[in-house]
Amino acid sequence: QLTVGVLALQGAFSEHIQLLRKAAVTLNAGGATAQWKFTEVRTAEELASCDALIVPGGESTAISLVAARNGLLDNLRDFVKVKRKPTWGTCAGLILLAESANRTKKGGQELIGGLDVRVNRNHFGRQTESFTTNIELPFLSSLPEGNIPYHAIFIRAPVVEKILPHVEGIQTKEAERDDTVVAPSLQPEEQVPRDLINTEVEVMASLIRTEKHPGTVQPNETSSGGDIIAVRQGNCFGTSFHPELTDDPRIHVWWLQEILQTLHK
Ligand code: GLN
Repeated sequence: QLTVGVLALQGAFSEHIQLLRKAAVTLNAGGATAQWKFTEVRTAEELASCDALIVPGGESTAISLVAARNGLLDNLRDFVKVKRKPTWGTCAGLILLAESANRTKKGGQELIGGLDVRVNRNHFGRQTESFTTNIELPFLSSLPEGNIPYHAIFIRAPVVEKILPHVEGIQTKEAERDDTVVAPSLQPEEQVPRDLINTEVEVMASLIRTEKHPGTVQPNETSSGGDIIAVRQGNCFGTSFHPELTDDPRIHVWWLQEILQTLHK
């Protein structure tokens, strides 16, 4: 049995559990035989029982504050960055999995890290806070109905503004900027084998701007093909939008399949 946890401190956690259940049914109908358990995670013990984790959308500052208050942040960092278990962040979850994020007016929050990216919180600004749009998700193409456009919901969404070079001390360099919060580096005794961490950030999906969702016009080096809205690096996956607020289980199906593949490697 494989246990997939959803961090349940704030935000859209029960929606994720619903879709995970739906995804498992789809997977098993397609011939998979895995037994899954989906569970809400609020404590270190609950986290320790998980093979994989989702950090949901919500408010990253709130999730991070509650995690810090519950003494869970170090366990989360250990799960994601040392044990390197499969972890998926949606929206606020993507922010928390980034190594670097912009500080908003309300301040920063402590990040978990795991993805060598800098995210821009609330990228699409205030007036256009929320929008939905149909997008192409190339990574779904191997699924049945994978080519049907995906209805993506963006709510005060972040985007990946920059992919950070995978070099020693990058957090320190990012942290020198006073508009920035960074995830703490691992302690020397926590270092994980190089082959596990030396994986590239893959851009999984981009959003080309249209009049409907103009974004803040901030030219940056990685977004000439649109804003980066889904990335993967080793065990970590992040999306700007909220699959959990739709009833389309395809990304959850894809992600559960990825988990099965990593565990069988
Ligand atoms: N803007 C939110 C944040 O900074 C994320 C919004 C969301 O998860 N819908 O945490």
